Amino acid sequence: MAKIKVAVNGYGTIGKRVAYAVSKQDDMEIVGISKTRPNFEARDAANRGFPIYVPAESVEAFQKAGIATKGTVDDMIAAADIIVDCTPGTLGPEYKAKYQAAGKKAIFQGGEEHGLTGLSFNSTANYQESWGAQLSRVVSCNTTGLLRTLTLLDREYKIVNAYVTIVRRAADPGDSKTGPINALEPSVSLPTHHGTDVKSVLPWLDITSMAIKSPTTLMHIQTVVAKLSREVSTEEVVDLFSKAPRVRLVSSKDGIKSTAQIMEMARDLGRDRSDMYEIVVWKDGIKVVGDTLYYYQAVHQESDVIPENVDCIRSMCKAMPGPESVAKTNATLGIDH
Ligand code: NAD
Repeated sequence: MAKIKVAVNGYGTIGKRVAYAVSKQDDMEIVGISKTRPNFEARDAANRGFPIYVPAESVEAFQKAGIATKGTVDDMIAAADIIVDCTPGTLGPEYKAKYQAAGKKAIFQGGEEHGLTGLSFNSTANYQESWGAQLSRVVSCNTTGLLRTLTLLDREYKIVNAYVTIVRRAADPGDSKTGPINALEPSVSLPTHHGTDVKSVLPWLDITSMAIKSPTTLMHIQTVVAKLSREVSTEEVVDLFSKAPRVRLVSSKDGIKSTAQIMEMARDLGRDRSDMYEIVVWKDGIKVVGDTLYYYQAVHQESDVIPENVDCIRSMCKAMPGPESVAKTNATLGIDH
């Protein structure tokens, strides 16, 4: 069967990871990535052998920098079956019009509104809803994290309501401009958009959220309080999470007491860019009291959405059923289950 031709528009934090993950799939190929400036990330793309496409006005700058380009962004769109749009979360409407005019399928990221595509994607929750779609949107890192665990809880025990507090990393590791650097900053516009975004995939879920920005670049931590429709034991929930796709249970007794040790463990795993694709749940931080469940989970913001993008490509291109795609993506990225 012909490989799916994938283009990645925007080779930043998310785009470069999507390009790597796609290049590991034997049923897909990267036909191009786009860069606006000939910086170190453009050189990384060249070193990894990805064909580079640029806006027409940037061709000269790339020539001067000695980085070979294959054509313009419009040429790249023409060469692809599907475009994974990883541009900053404001260019969606402009690029959506271009993709549609070229008759191409496109995936947007969580920085864009659900309304842009009318369809939001998560492998665990709704793989089938994007089947054959022209446009879809992989939800944000926080929403992906919440959906990985809440979907299973809702299927198994029916969630009556859920309250989430997110301690958000202030900046990505490669960012030296964003803050705060010495303060905790509550998001005072309440409830925050995170709960609403979960509802873009699970509209029936009663969920609300609050968030605090914290001076770290490592990960987000989410605290979840969920009222279930019946009493369950803590052990049952531990067992459910231990089988959940892309959820990794850790224990503070094993020396993992913070996001620092999680990222050290990620470095030990030896994956590309030391990424932690799984949502990390503290096993000894799971507790059920009556019908109310409490737990903590950590989200590696720049990588949990990467396997979701690979699965979303397969769903939109009608390549294979969800469980097969999840297993294939996991195997190629070194994710246990
Ligand atoms: P980024 O700023 O790291 O990368 C964006 C890339 O797009 C850059 O390489 C930039 O040069 C390029 N770009 C800018 N203008 C362009 C244009 N007109 N045409 C083509 N390319 C252009 O951003 P990011 O963090 O990778 O975020 C991308 C999307 O992913 C956003 O929607 C964001 O909300 C979402 N997201 C980010 C994270 C994260 O942790 N960074 C996590 C989940 C989802």
